[in-house]
Amino acid sequence: MEIRFFGVRGSIAVSGSRIGGNTACVELTSQGHRLILDAGTGIRTLSEIMMREGPPQKATLFFSHLHWDHVQGFPFFTPAYLGSTELMLYGPGANGDQALQSVLSKQMEPPNFPVPLSILRAKMTFGSALHGKPIEVGPFKVTPIDVPHPQGCLAYRVEADGHTFVYATDVELARESLTSEVARYMEGADALVLDAQYTPDEYTGKIGIPKKGWGHSTMVDAAQVAQAVDARRLLLFHHDPAHNDDLVENMAEEARNHFFATEPAREGKRLVLGQAVGA
Ligand SMILES: [Zn+2]
Ligand SMILES: [Zn+2]
Repeated sequence: MEIRFFGVRGSIAVSGSRIGGNTACVELTSQGHRLILDAGTGIRTLSEIMMREGPPQKATLFFSHLHWDHVQGFPFFTPAYLGSTELMLYGPGANGDQALQSVLSKQMEPPNFPVPLSILRAKMTFGSALHGKPIEVGPFKVTPIDVPHPQGCLAYRVEADGHTFVYATDVELARESLTSEVARYMEGADALVLDAQYTPDEYTGKIGIPKKGWGHSTMVDAAQVAQAVDARRLLLFHHDPAHNDDLVENMAEEARNHFFATEPAREGKRLVLGQAVGA
């Protein structure tokens, strides 16, 4: 399974970052099948690649939740404008299909956007992703996991080709609050993507206002969780828009004191599971 990061930033896109300014979008491919996790602004770059590959295009999109930074790139997902494209889109939770369709539609309504969702010619099918109910897509087995975040959020455990990738953005986790159920779903991940938006000082309010209850983790918590679930490598994700590259690198450095195989998720980074760490 191959993983490519197209958006690694949280909350809102920023410019001028080497690590990456686009909001959440991660692509997984295996055996000619394509999954897209979230449609933050990063999906625009992926859509350029898909347009270069040419039609017909087929993809399955899984949304962690419907906060703005995870859906706002969708109107710029050019393959959706082509009649030859086939998209399966999973929204989170019961009625996730309707909720997702409504959110994607509303963000394209006037005066927000010139083109309504109904103009998109792709064949789009909406489904609901439910906690603990695996969805099979080609070689992929995708299991949604409820995680703590305001209004809820799904993490995804994705298994394919004998490897496991876990995507857990927008989650307030710590070793102490990690339930055995969530831990079980993260157990042994070859690559674990975890929300690490804040430093401990930001989280507790030593710097700025306290961020407890905002639904995001610190890089230290992320590293301790990675250690606790015996992950092989950790990618810090949902970088705070106020953090410059140096700060994000320093956060990863500090996180490595708790879990050695830690790095910041970087836009453009390609990861092939099965290759040695650092590949
Ligand atoms: Zn977010
Ligand atoms: Zn969120």
